[in-house]
Amino acid sequence: MSIYSLKMRASRHENGTQEHVSGAEKILRASELTAQMDALLQRALHHAKGKADFINLKIEEIQPDDLQYIDALPVSTYEATTADEGRKAMAEGLTEVGISPEKAEKIMSMFKDTYSMRGAMLLDADILERLEPDHARGIRATYMDAEHSASRSASDCKNHFQEAIVLASKVISAPHIIAELCMSDDPDYVTGYIATRSKGYMRITKLKPMGCPDGGRIFLYRGPREEVAECIRYLQQQHVLVRNVPEKPVLSSIPSYATSHPEENIKKGTLKENSPKNPWQVYADILAEKKNRHLYRTTTEISSAQAAHVTCNSQEQLMLASNDYLGLIDHPDVIAAAQNAAAIYGTGSGGSRLTTGTLPLHNQLERDLAHFKGTEAAIIFNTGYMANVGIISAMGIKDSIIFSDEKNHASIIDGCRLSHAKTVIYAHNDMADLEAKLQEYADCQGLIVTDAVFSMDGDIANLPRIMELAKTYHVLTMVDEAHSTGVLGRTGRGITEHFGLAEMPDILMGTMSKALAAEGGYACGSQLLIDYLRNTARSYIFSTSLAPAVLAAAKQALQLLTEQPEMAQALQQNTRIFCQELQTHGIEADSETAIVPIILHDEELALKAAAALRQKNIYISAIRYPTVAKNHAMLRAALMATHTEDELRHAAKTIAATIKELK
Ligand SMILES: *Cc1c(COP(=O)(O)O)cnc(C)c1O
Repeated sequence: MSIYSLKMRASRHENGTQEHVSGAEKILRASELTAQMDALLQRALHHAKGKADFINLKIEEIQPDDLQYIDALPVSTYEATTADEGRKAMAEGLTEVGISPEKAEKIMSMFKDTYSMRGAMLLDADILERLEPDHARGIRATYMDAEHSASRSASDCKNHFQEAIVLASKVISAPHIIAELCMSDDPDYVTGYIATRSKGYMRITKLKPMGCPDGGRIFLYRGPREEVAECIRYLQQQHVLVRNVPEKPVLSSIPSYATSHPEENIKKGTLKENSPKNPWQVYADILAEKKNRHLYRTTTEISSAQAAHVTCNSQEQLMLASNDYLGLIDHPDVIAAAQNAAAIYGTGSGGSRLTTGTLPLHNQLERDLAHFKGTEAAIIFNTGYMANVGIISAMGIKDSIIFSDEKNHASIIDGCRLSHAKTVIYAHNDMADLEAKLQEYADCQGLIVTDAVFSMDGDIANLPRIMELAKTYHVLTMVDEAHSTGVLGRTGRGITEHFGLAEMPDILMGTMSKALAAEGGYACGSQLLIDYLRNTARSYIFSTSLAPAVLAAAKQALQLLTEQPEMAQALQQNTRIFCQELQTHGIEADSETAIVPIILHDEELALKAAAALRQKNIYISAIRYPTVAKNHAMLRAALMATHTEDELRHAAKTIAATIKELK
């Protein structure tokens, strides 16, 4: 009977890098191959982390003599309430293999180094010397599966629990390995385990504080140096089937994330007993997975107008996280304009733009926007999100290419996905990479699209160079000015004024939801562009147009900005004051926009600092993985023209002191 190894690795392109989505390996009979392959493919294509865009399936035949059978390690769970408790349990496990508590502490501190490795660290258990030949790659234990009956269903869900037992059982049976230590490298997931021959596999529910990115695997080796190579061969190449692997942890040790387990859901009444299939189960699982990874999000109520000061949980807070950059949301003229429009035209528009939903206000606002941006014409959409989705899907015709910066806003990414174009991602603001990609697709119909100001780091796109490249390679250009209108340039006209460009990009997209204190998105450009979008952009055509009050508010805010360009200058001055005050107190900060990132790297520090500042009535956001890369966690301050110098100096001082206290 032929036996095969089947391996699947799936990833997706995200933020310019290949992000791992899912991986699995199985050892199978020939008759099972097709069904299992299909199940793994389905998993990769319908994963909660997103649909894989690269899937590698590898099938290798195994000679029956090359297959080794071993028994699964016995399983237990240690319920730790604190990370200290968990680490102590791990250290005690290590004393069983003759490692002192001091040495155990040293070994566990090496999870700081395993975090960036792809595989495991192979460590001499006594002199703590690293034995893996490639420190970045580490050792990957592979070619293993749980032994199963021929009746294993192809639709078997991925069982992380079983996979961990299989791995630990193989590692512990490798020559001269006396223990395996594992700690999750996900900052939001704090569990791990220790495996030894005598203790078996002991799951530990808490090994590190939430937000800590450390983690990885350490294999402890005690044996002659000449046999290290054989140990590595065994881990990486020996085919192993593990017998008697339990399906799931015993009941007392079901971890709290197990709400996705069917029996738990029966108790909670979401799944009927004996029901063959609950069509809600998959969604409950996806949500449980989000909770489990601490990516589940909720809303915070702010019970006042969004101004420089807001009321949140009955506390007055200095708002350093708003998009209302010019502080116009509660401006009396803007409010009066909205009230007046509602009094005249009512509350809704009653139709889509191409049917009955065009009021004088729609046409006037489009003319005002075109005039403000210095283009022939403009078109408005209901939100910035809908503008990007509508514009990009309309421009991205079949056989064309969209060149998109890896840090572009989600609405641009979604527009690319909806278009018929091929999307080519270039490295963030990397003009050499953009040019290489333009060369690769020379002679194609193309559009370069970029945020003008990037929403997390507040940095500015290299638009002068993008325009040059676009000219050379005969492609169109589009900038998203969500964070630059009202912010950049002497009169707040945005990125072209900032750089003093004589020529405009082909498409100036923006929102009225940030500096313009209302709602809605727009595109400004040539009459041809605007005519084309009115006839092809589906989010424009098939949605009821903006309401009168919103239009009037945006129009009034735009008029205020035109009459009082010093508002934009006040905001720019505020950025200089805030950055300079942070620098005075030893915090690196540098920005030319309303967005000032304070990079702390450490995920936990960022979370704690934001929480401590909330206590001190400063509302600032902590941004961390997966919104930004691991180890790039930050506090992200968003400034307003209406913050006073005193407020910003006080906030900067408090932020610096808070970070120092926590460090
Ligand atoms: C906020 C934002 C959008 C979406 O605009 P909305 O009006 O909020 O829908 C689009 N692009 C960027 C860069 C943004 O920051």
